Amino acid sequence: MASPQGSRAPLEFGGPLGAAALMLLLPATMFHLLLVVRSGPARLLGPPPYLPGLQVLWSPRMLLLWLTWLGLQAALYLLPARKVAEGQELKDKSRLLYPINVLAGLPLGALPEMLLPLAFAATFTTFIFSLFLYLKALVAPASALAPGGNSGNPIYDFFLGRELNPRVWSFDFKYFCELRPGLIGWVLINLAMLMQEAELRGSPSLAMWLVNGFQLLYVGDALWHEEAVLTTMDITHDGFGFMLAFGDLAWVPFTYSLQAQFLLHHPQPLGLPVASVICLINAVGYYIFRGANSQKNTFRKNPSDPRVADLETIPTATGRQLLVSGWWGMVRHPNYLGDLIMALAWSLPCGVSHLLPYFYLLYFTALLVHREARDEQQCLQKYGLAWHEYCRRVPYRILPYIY
Ligand code: NDP
Repeated sequence: MASPQGSRAPLEFGGPLGAAALMLLLPATMFHLLLVVRSGPARLLGPPPYLPGLQVLWSPRMLLLWLTWLGLQAALYLLPARKVAEGQELKDKSRLLYPINVLAGLPLGALPEMLLPLAFAATFTTFIFSLFLYLKALVAPASALAPGGNSGNPIYDFFLGRELNPRVWSFDFKYFCELRPGLIGWVLINLAMLMQEAELRGSPSLAMWLVNGFQLLYVGDALWHEEAVLTTMDITHDGFGFMLAFGDLAWVPFTYSLQAQFLLHHPQPLGLPVASVICLINAVGYYIFRGANSQKNTFRKNPSDPRVADLETIPTATGRQLLVSGWWGMVRHPNYLGDLIMALAWSLPCGVSHLLPYFYLLYFTALLVHREARDEQQCLQKYGLAWHEYCRRVPYRILPYIY
């Protein structure tokens, strides 16, 4: 049993009060976006056109559909794996095994019209699921708890997640939720918007093609490099609670598809010259994002790999080294920079008449600035003086000469 006093890890996200506020604010924002995107004015900051009653939101059929989607994904997860990868070392020095196999098709129906009750089913099941995770964590051994998320405050721990890698037998809940249902759900919603647009207007617009293409590349890349998720903060540091469960299962598919939803309801003309410039911006973003992530992953797997062996490094007391040239010598988070450039390219096809399609860019900037600060804190704890030296050598965090 875990100690009832909780851990002494500093509280993040504004402690219990911040956690409680976020648990209300995140679902409320998601529903606000789903409502305003289909309204005439499509104002990000305006009031929603109407407040849906429970008869609009609650649909047993949608709940069944949502659970079927999760069940289908779970069945795929349990298929014999293409590969089995080892996770990072845990407190008790063991390593968990994760199956690497992904992708399934699903016929698309009248998805655009079902988004609101589907989002409601996703939010509802996420609360129930998080409760299950919280109760399960209460009987988990102390060695299985996350560094944060076991403060002893039930609201905070429910939000942040108490157990690091909750599993039933070999089924890892966090790893399963992290990529598959949300990311594949996101591209399916995008595709449904494209098909609906083709039905309404004869063919999908160029803007819709770009948004679908860019985001498909992003999701395909994440699934292709599925194993890389095992070294992310989400898997190695954060517990599995409402924050990640809601983010992965509801927030990602229903708000990341906002640009495609916007284009369906608010078609935007886009000429070839502007489209080419937007493609170039996305390509630059992807080049930086992939280059930086691959360079670090290659280096962490094998520092003497010829692709990274020539890069300059700083030794640390842990025996690991920090890259100080190449992408990671440019800024301390080049992968975030690439990701943000892509986020801009995903919004630009929606024109500049509305702020709404730029919601992802604004939200994502805030998320990555906050995530970068959390990661800095963790790196400072891990690497101490060596991290100070790295910050001195590479003074900018995300944007060269600016931030
Ligand atoms: P990162 O991939 O940025 O990893 C941070 C870790 O990298 C550090 O904790 C440290 O861990 C290691 N590191 C930092 N600096 C160096 C260096 N100079 N040399 C070697 N190792 C270093 O973490 P994230 O999980 O935040 O991001 C992964 C990707 O996912 C990013 O591309 C991000 O943009 C994307 N992302 C996307 C989201 C979305 O919603 N679309 C949400 C969040 C992230 P250690 O030393 O222990 O290896």
